[in-house]
Amino acid sequence: MSAHEQMRAMLDQLMGTGRDGENNKFKVHFTDPRVCKSFLLACCPHDILAATRMDLGECPKLHDLALRADFENASLKKDYFYDVDAMEHLQNFINECDRRTEQAKRRLADTQEELSAEVAAKLNKVHELAEQIGKKLAQAEKQGAEGNVEESMKTLEEVEEFRKQKSMAEQEYRNSMPASSYQQQKLRVCEVCSAYLGIHDNDRRLADHFGGKLHLGFITIREKLEELKAAVSEKRQKGRMERDRDYAKDERSREWNRSFSERERSRSRERAARRHRSRSNSRNRHRHRSRSRSTERRKHKHHRRSRSKERHRSRETERRHRRDRSREKSKEKTKRSDSRERRHSTSNDKEGSNHED
Ligand SMILES: [Zn+2]
Ligand SMILES: [Zn+2]
Repeated sequence: MSAHEQMRAMLDQLMGTGRDGENNKFKVHFTDPRVCKSFLLACCPHDILAATRMDLGECPKLHDLALRADFENASLKKDYFYDVDAMEHLQNFINECDRRTEQAKRRLADTQEELSAEVAAKLNKVHELAEQIGKKLAQAEKQGAEGNVEESMKTLEEVEEFRKQKSMAEQEYRNSMPASSYQQQKLRVCEVCSAYLGIHDNDRRLADHFGGKLHLGFITIREKLEELKAAVSEKRQKGRMERDRDYAKDERSREWNRSFSERERSRSRERAARRHRSRSNSRNRHRHRSRSRSTERRKHKHHRRSRSKERHRSRETERRHRRDRSREKSKEKTKRSDSRERRHSTSNDKEGSNHED
């Protein structure tokens, strides 16, 4: 990073977006689902494990220091519950890593010579002491680098103590098996970062492992995960209702953005539906073209409807007829309509029977 870029990153970090309106390189708000929420909380494994043996490459989501500054500012006033997202993210990552560790252990169990429980316990003791030495050495180096010479010396004294214990443990282990077996490198899987550690690894190598970026990165991620879990469960207890509401809202937007392919699929479904619609439209058009048939059917329907109406009307007229028998004029009129309607209905009946098959 050039000095200029470094200065720029520092300013982003300090001031957030909006400075001269030109530093938000992705042109998004920090609430955008494309922004990495773990990054906003400074715990994205893609960053933490960068340039280690387990470098994950670039995060598929957006990382921008200016957005983190925006988020940090905004979260002073409002809880965005991004710790829930980050927790899920880290939990998935750690689960995957632990799965790999178990796999590596099984592989070792399959390939390494099986030891009796007694010998295995002795071997484990050597491994544990070796790990202690490695961790302590790494710690001493860090303390020395930070200028804490006195603390560093004290830690080195502890290392000496562990070394004595380790050589005793090694002696016991060696005495419990033939020399040829002892020469074999016995591997063990690091529970933190799933790397292989050998019983014959020297202190330097162990210190490099336990003080190395990979192992420490995993410690950071695991600690952060525990932190997030605690914060989330505390919040859940405190404001269940509120959280659920906000989380549901978030979940909706997350679902919307769940995966590009999902959206792509639904889009192609839509396209297919559109094609279907246009096809049925053309069918409609076709129907319109063969109007004569459908008009006929419509006419028929109309007839049937009018038939029942007319039946009703004719009953009514009959009643009226009886009532108004004395009135000559009306009598004549109803008679006329009655007969007309009867004629109509007979023709309808004929037509109806023709079609009712
Ligand atoms: Zn990320
Ligand atoms: Zn490790």
